[in-house]
Amino acid sequence: YMPGSGNQERLRERPDFILVVIQDLTENRRLERMRTDFVANASHELRTPLASLTGFIETLQGPARNDTEAQERFLSIMLDQAGRMRRLIDDILSLSRIELKAHVRPATVVDLTEIIRHTADALSPLARDLEVEIRIDVPDIPVRLKGDRDELIQVVENLIENALKYGSSGKVVDVRVYEQSVDQDADYWVLSVRDYGEGIPREHLPRLTERFYRVDVESSRALKGTGLGLAIVKHILTRHRARLEVESNPGEGAEFRIKLPALENTDGSAEKISA
Ligand code: ADP
Repeated sequence: YMPGSGNQERLRERPDFILVVIQDLTENRRLERMRTDFVANASHELRTPLASLTGFIETLQGPARNDTEAQERFLSIMLDQAGRMRRLIDDILSLSRIELKAHVRPATVVDLTEIIRHTADALSPLARDLEVEIRIDVPDIPVRLKGDRDELIQVVENLIENALKYGSSGKVVDVRVYEQSVDQDADYWVLSVRDYGEGIPREHLPRLTERFYRVDVESSRALKGTGLGLAIVKHILTRHRARLEVESNPGEGAEFRIKLPALENTDGSAEKISA
């Protein structure tokens, strides 16, 4: 296009066309890079327990062949390693299943309080083992919103489980649900999971939802983490048009907040407690 040529059609069309192509390429490259990084990281994560398993099998075939006491010990370590591989594979599959539906908004209506009680019940043995109390403060009425029950259970489970495991020194985990009003309507339901443990140093906060990102790899492994929990949470929340906020002061614990869009009444206003 030459300025002053007078061809307004070409002026409008051409730059648009070029821009789209460039954006597509960069986006494709970025996604391609993410995919190859993910495959490399996942292979590495799986290779570690596999190497350990192979090593123990060789020892059992050779040096420990007649040592029943060592055999017992090695077999229990092998079972742990196999468990770690299974958790990784489960989480990898979970992540790819959710990614496939990333753009489809759930159509069913669920009750968030029911999901929280269900999940807290399921986690009560872990809470007991870690000697942490789960305190629940939710509205007495059903908190209805559009969502996928299984996926939201996965979200709540991940957050409470992390709070129990990484915040166990605080002895208490608070789970709350409250409405957040914008323009007098309750536009969002906020789910807050708060612990009083070690907290998370500020510089890590922006990266927590990256796949395989862990503040402390050893403690995550010891606590049976895969590093995929919050990545799964993020993907589920994207599909629910929900937001995740994290706040933490080291030494004072961490708070994970989820903002879920409230259900709209037929007149377009938001459903809220006082309605
Ligand atoms: P993991 O399987 O390792 O628990 P997540 O994706 O669930 O993976 O969490 C990523 C990392 O974020 C964890 O390894 C841990 O270092 C940190 N983290 C998550 N929740 C908390 C919390 N409540 N307190 C402190 N650190 C946390």
